[in-house]
Amino acid sequence: MELDFESAYQLLGATILAAQSTDKMINTITPALFARYPTPAALAEADPAELVPLVFKSGFYRNKAKSLIGMARALVAKHGGEVPRTLAELSALPGVGRKTANVILGSALGITEGVVVDTHVTRLAQRLGLTTETDAVKIEQDLMTVLPKDQWTPFAHRLIWHGRRVCMAKKPDCEHCVLAATCPSAGIAGTTVTAAATTKTKTAKMDRQAAARAKTDAKQKKTLKAAKKK
Ligand code: SF4
Repeated sequence: MELDFESAYQLLGATILAAQSTDKMINTITPALFARYPTPAALAEADPAELVPLVFKSGFYRNKAKSLIGMARALVAKHGGEVPRTLAELSALPGVGRKTANVILGSALGITEGVVVDTHVTRLAQRLGLTTETDAVKIEQDLMTVLPKDQWTPFAHRLIWHGRRVCMAKKPDCEHCVLAATCPSAGIAGTTVTAAATTKTKTAKMDRQAAARAKTDAKQKKTLKAAKKK
């Protein structure tokens, strides 16, 4: 986990801020943010005019400030000021989707309900041939099927770590990758090519070839039949 946090509340706030930003950037913002608003109750009472400058560097700061206050108010109003411990309750908080809920459960509360599927997990699961899906929920289901449950959280962290440092979106470093010997996308992954895309392309090509062969066979049979009649 590359976001700094000391409690589930802090990780929740940091994860909301991390959307469309980097963990490194968020780690420069959160110390002052949580010093000013140390509890959900304090954040629930925040004046947006005072909160916005604190989260400004994270981008989309107005929406994020709104989500932070909304999340804190929901914690106070519905959960006694505590972070809830189920996927359904967490996902219902403002600014929190299934991905963020899985992050909080797995990394701050030690509860495993699903697999975090972000942009890195999506790309790597496809390249490694663990899924052919593009939808996050379907990718999560595929990973939950192939992984032992006690690996759901650490495996996602490993993919994210690997995706940031080795298997980057545009220029994966297959030459120095420890997974190259078993990865079906080694040497061919790039801007758009993924194992799934490659498989789909190959299948479509094979289908076209089979259709062409069937057409030729039918034509030859017809010619043969006509010749026999003569
Ligand atoms: S071999 Fe290449 S495509 Fe496969 S995981 Fe490693 S860097 Fe990514």
